Amino acid sequence: MGAPHVALFPFPDHGHVTPMLQLALHLASRGAYVTFINAELGHQQLPSFTEYLNQTANLKYAHLSVGISALEGPLTLDVVVSDSSGLGNVESSSLPVLHRSLESQSSALEKLLTDLNGAQNWPSFSCLISDAFMPWTASVAQKLQVSWMVFWTPSATRFYLSTKALGHKEMNTELQKLANITIGLSPESTDVFDLSRLRNPHRRQLLMARVEGTKMADVILLNTFDALEEEAVKELAKDFPIRSLGPLCFGTGLKASKANEESLSWLDRQAPHSILYISFGSKAMLQGRPLEQLAFGIESSNMPFLWVLRSGGEGLPEGFVERTEARSKIMKWVPQKQVLEHRAIGAFFTHCGWNSVLEAVVEGVPMICWPTFGDQPTNKLVIEQKWRIGRGIQGGEVDAENIRQVIQDVVGNAEFRQRGSLLSRSAKSALGQGGTSDQNFKFLMQELAVREHHVASC
Ligand code: UDP
Repeated sequence: MGAPHVALFPFPDHGHVTPMLQLALHLASRGAYVTFINAELGHQQLPSFTEYLNQTANLKYAHLSVGISALEGPLTLDVVVSDSSGLGNVESSSLPVLHRSLESQSSALEKLLTDLNGAQNWPSFSCLISDAFMPWTASVAQKLQVSWMVFWTPSATRFYLSTKALGHKEMNTELQKLANITIGLSPESTDVFDLSRLRNPHRRQLLMARVEGTKMADVILLNTFDALEEEAVKELAKDFPIRSLGPLCFGTGLKASKANEESLSWLDRQAPHSILYISFGSKAMLQGRPLEQLAFGIESSNMPFLWVLRSGGEGLPEGFVERTEARSKIMKWVPQKQVLEHRAIGAFFTHCGWNSVLEAVVEGVPMICWPTFGDQPTNKLVIEQKWRIGRGIQGGEVDAENIRQVIQDVVGNAEFRQRGSLLSRSAKSALGQGGTSDQNFKFLMQELAVREHHVASC
């Protein structure tokens, strides 16, 4: 059987494109021919990677250059966090418009795949792997008569809770029961899952469509490893053809461009484990009271810090920058994976996006958790209660003194770092020779090869 040719199609958002890119690199390093197709918005977010990608002989980059239609203003997926609860207002985002626009590109995707099939000296595609956010891609795979696999980018725990709780009439009660009994989590309220907050019918419908879509997939790929989310993975495996392949951020050699390395040279000059790294990912934007209280909390912790503020510092309390500049660096963007790998990092103040969480797990960095929306509250619970490598800012009124206290608790907790080191070892060995994710990759390569054989003999 020859090497399979797989098309990968990520949802065009930074937190989705990056792990799909990591998946592409892992598959290519295992001998698959990979075509990475990026929609316009995703393409705009990855300019520094496109050149790099084309350097791998069996990995090609293709750009689905259909613009975002039906948009009235510039598209932004930013989630503004400005009320005192510290949670973001997702309803205000452009997500529904983006979904509609992407779905309207179905025939363009089909045409691109057909054209690419004829143009390359590679075997024909035998499989389309697309993000679970785009269940409509199943029909594209069907028309092209290739296998369809789904890549679920959030955690397995989130997937499990969504599959079980969403369709349930008594969703809140069901969620609480599932979390307690099956996963072993004790949430103070079901709200922390942000699944029970899906009052907006459109958001609820989108999540339902995603979950329903996975039922059509030949295989569901997860960015986790079996030991990390043991219970959720076991439960899911009873009903779904899943493969845990993560943590995909490990072992690809994917690096950010040189232009971003100022933060790293600043870290080189700092003492080991001395720096608090603060980042809320690529979408959450803190404003107003949450931003102000966070700044005061960081300042009174007296820790030196590296803070990613995509607004560049706008909205910070007066004099904050001047008072802290001797022990701080504020930047709009940093190469986060390399930052977390750096020996100077002592703790990570995070919004608990799944990619950020996995990057911290791989490096064994303790976390201070301030989830803002979506799957992040679930991730926070797992960090606090299952892995016990961090603590969260408690809900309700966001308060500087509370923030200072949690920072100091996490930074001074040697057990968090010890458990973090063990988890880091376990994460790295999952993808090492004979590890669970390595094995799952081998199974996946066999499955792809069988499909390739089937396509070739048709
Ligand atoms: N990231 C980065 N530099 C930054 C901030 C974020 O490289 O300054 C990356 C981070 O490493 C992660 C991704 O952006 O891979 C954020 O994804 P995550 O799932 O954590 O959160 P989201 O952005 O989707 O909310």
